[in-house]
Amino acid sequence: MKTPAVMWFRRDLRLSDQRALEAASATSPVIGLFVLDPVLLAGCGPARAHYLVVTLRALRESMNGALVLRVGGPGEVLREVCRESGATRVVITEDFAPYGRARDERVEEELASIGVELVRADTPYAVRPGTARTAAGTPPKVFTPFFRSWEASGVPGPQPLSSDPQWVTLSSLEPEHLFDYAGRARPELFAGLEDPRATTFEDVGEAGAWARLEEFLTRVDRYGEGRNQPGEELTSRLSPHLRFGTLHPRQVLAAAQGSSASAGVFRSEVAWREFYGDVLFHHPESAWRALQTSMERLRVDEGPLAHERFRAWARGETGYPLVDAGMRQLLAEGWMHNRVRMVCASFLVKHLHLDWRWGARWFLWCLIDADLASNQHGWQWTAGTGTDAAPFHRVFNPTLQAERFDPDGVYVRRYVAELATVPSPQCLQPGGGAGLLAPAGYPAPLVDAARERDEALARFAEVRAPR
Ligand SMILES: Cc1cc2nc3c(=O)[nH]c(=O)nc-3n(C[C@H](O)[C@H](O)[C@H](O)COP(=O)(O)OP(=O)(O)OC[C@H]3O[C@@H](n4cnc5c(N)ncnc54)[C@H](O)[C@@H]3O)c2cc1C
Repeated sequence: MKTPAVMWFRRDLRLSDQRALEAASATSPVIGLFVLDPVLLAGCGPARAHYLVVTLRALRESMNGALVLRVGGPGEVLREVCRESGATRVVITEDFAPYGRARDERVEEELASIGVELVRADTPYAVRPGTARTAAGTPPKVFTPFFRSWEASGVPGPQPLSSDPQWVTLSSLEPEHLFDYAGRARPELFAGLEDPRATTFEDVGEAGAWARLEEFLTRVDRYGEGRNQPGEELTSRLSPHLRFGTLHPRQVLAAAQGSSASAGVFRSEVAWREFYGDVLFHHPESAWRALQTSMERLRVDEGPLAHERFRAWARGETGYPLVDAGMRQLLAEGWMHNRVRMVCASFLVKHLHLDWRWGARWFLWCLIDADLASNQHGWQWTAGTGTDAAPFHRVFNPTLQAERFDPDGVYVRRYVAELATVPSPQCLQPGGGAGLLAPAGYPAPLVDAARERDEALARFAEVRAPR
């Protein structure tokens, strides 16, 4: 038999339009390997760990059981697999987050030392991070010039595999084995908080991704006008699939091609994911540092009261119904609607005066679609420390946002049980309505939003003041 190649699956858990797999399998039999890396799993909250297990099960099934799962440091595992099988090539879809880039460079050296080549054959983006340029030839700092350049570089179409892979199997662990390693690096900050309860998921794996995409395409024309309304399911909910690569953005963009304005809006939202991948590629330090470095000087609260407020926010007990509904959706589903992510993030930073990194950590822990680039830069955009051109002054008023985007209270009542029978607009008001009308059991507002908005702007003025 010919020498096999290793297809090292990471964030590309699919078989269609799989260019790394094509490169691995076009001329050789192939070992499909997924490495349970204890370092990555330690930071993986329980909801995402469950999601990954069901996704790996689906991938293994689509490979007729041939997926090989091993646990350990990737360099060590790969050398072991290459020695066992005689493989001299390991093929990957490139990773662009700081940990993944450093890991791949290390693994490349370790493999080279035993005569094995690491081949980078694709990326998890439609356009490779680092490609887009402004008219002046520099990496774009804001979205519009990025989008122009991204569109102009031409998104390639999907490509079927030239032939079915000839799988080679080796001994393997079960996907459930990852639970032994997941969640070990739970931050101290989360003491006293319950994790998301999400353990059952619809539409998982590659087949589930296509079912979801096809269902979304039947209503893509309502996306433009409806994507900000959390009460109705009008967005695609494809983010977990793009996160784990059960769909590639090339496939999504090709399927959603259309001349309607709505399809255009959808395309540009997918491009936000590409933009943040590009920003993190150029500024890896921005994963945990303000992109606008002066904003590191913004005063944030610390100490017991700050921690108490953080916990109230994370539990969905702030007394601001839209914020609480969002945070409870996150706990129930491991997912939250984009408009509400912005409102919740803004509330943490601009009404509670907490460090955006606290909130970003909680989101990364809870979200099944947690993605370092989109999450950290979604947070930085909202916190006014990142790529937004008109940053800190925009303070989302949580009540006005609820009145505008959830006017009938459908979303708020769905997730906040104490408000389930309270009519709109009362259910959208702080505390679920004032005085005697306040519903039993629902918290009074944690802070006075108007007062804290002024406080936030005063702190921002300190950053801006000449020193
Ligand atoms: C504070 C904050 C944190 C976020 N954290 C994450 C995260 O960890 N992972 C993640 O995938 N997205 C994150 N987002 C972006 C966005 O909220 C989600 O991608 C979106 O809600 C997913 O739902 P959907 O698939 O129905 O989106 P749709 O509206 O259907 O959009 C389609 C796809 O486009 C991409 N997309 C859409 N909006 C954005 C955006 N604003 N930024 C980046 N990509 C976008 C996503 O891949 C999404 O699946 C965050 C946003 C904010 C404000």
